[in-house]
This record gives sequence, structure tokens and C-alpha cells, in this order.
Amino acid sequence: MRLILLGPPGSGKGTQAELLYRRHGTVSLASGDILREAIRRGDAIGRQANQYMQAGALVPDELVTGILLGHLEGLGKEQPFVLDGFPRTEAQARSLDAKLAEGGLAPIDLVVDFEIDGERIILRLAGRRICGSCGASYHMENKPPREGGRCDRCGEALALREDDRPETIRKRLRVYHEQTEPLLAFYRRKGKLRSVPGDLGIEEQYQALEDLLRRERLV
Ligand code: ADP
Repeated sequence: MRLILLGPPGSGKGTQAELLYRRHGTVSLASGDILREAIRRGDAIGRQANQYMQAGALVPDELVTGILLGHLEGLGKEQPFVLDGFPRTEAQARSLDAKLAEGGLAPIDLVVDFEIDGERIILRLAGRRICGSCGASYHMENKPPREGGRCDRCGEALALREDDRPETIRKRLRVYHEQTEPLLAFYRRKGKLRSVPGDLGIEEQYQALEDLLRRERLV
């Protein structure tokens, strides 16, 4: 199974990718996590990406594509995977197709769009907290940590993500609308696009996703 999760920020891509991993062992490649990891390491790519991310803008295609496709190369040929947050532009989608073809790898099976409206997103992202040390993601209402304000995995303090401030969220939604939404038509033309509601509870959303994958005979 090779999936792309589309949908605006806050539509649950990362959370659903984690549930897919637990249930089906699909490795998740989350571009945002990979970039934040590069920032934590303080390497050149991280330093370049940081300024764009803090501003709620997209990181330039060459930078993201290089790092993401590098991770893809590291997976075994048969490894099922889920892409979360990549591709986000048509140029990235074309680079991905080229990479899969060139490596003799099977193409993407399905692209899932998690549908949710803008106001719900702002509420959701305002409740999101991440661990500054390991990057684990929580939500104060929907997915709270066991001990208030601390990471379940490593015990470090949780914080609001830099780009989850309301004014930056609005910018990210505009960017999604302008640069990523055109990808829906791109994948619809290829017959690969399906949608799942993104405004359900975590378990209900997962159930809808699982039902879709079953209908498509991917699980
Ligand atoms: P969300 O899906 O909630 O926006 P992510 O963690 O996926 O969160 O992305 C956070 C930020 O990382 C984006 O606003 C953008 O700056 C950068 N980013 C992530 N993936 C990409 C990508 N494929 N292309 C360009 N920038 C990206």
C-alpha cells in the first residue's frame, strides 16, 4: 500500500498516518517532521527551511524534494508507505512520480483528501502541542498527554508549535488553498483521488479511512 495523505493543515494527516502504522505497518514519511528534525539538528537544510516554516510559507521545492526523496530511497522496494505533507505542489508531485518510475518502484495507489473547513482547522491547531525534544504531537482535547504538559514518550515539556499561532495558521490555509489544492485536480485526473471527512473524531476518521482502503482492496 502506497498512499499520499492530502488535506489542509490540521485535517489529521499525521494522526491517521500513525494509526495506519500501528494497524498495517505502513511507514510514514512526514515532510514537516523531517524538516523539523533537520532544524533541531541545526544543519544547513534545517537553517534554510526554518525561516519559511516560521512564516507559514512553503519551503522551496528543491529543498523539500531532495530531503524527502532521499528518505524514500532508504525504504525497501516492497515497503508500504504513507506520505504525509508531501507532495504539496504539482512540481513536487511530478518529481515523486519520476523518482518512483526511475527506481522501478510501483506507483502511488491512492491519494486521500481529508476534507475539513477553515474555522474547524483554527480551533484544532490552537489545541495542538508538540514535544520540543522528540517531536511527538498531542492535542489538549482530542489526544491529551497522560501527564499534563509533558511528553508520554520522553517526559519533556510540550509547547505550541511555532507555526500554530492563529495569524500563521491563516497564512498556511491561504498557502494550502493557492499551492496545494490544485493537486486535488492533478490526482483526480489520474483517477487516484478519494476523500474522507477530516472533521470527525480521531477513531471515526480512522474508521472512514479503513473502510475506504477496504473498498479499494488495499487492506
Ligand atoms: P501541517 O500539515 O499541519 O501544515 P506540516 O508539519 O506538514 O504541518 O508542515 C509544516 C510546515 O513545513 C509547512 O507550513 C511548510 O513550511 C513546511 N513543509 C512541510 N512539507 C512541505 C512540502 N512538501 N513542501 C514545502 N514545505 C513543506
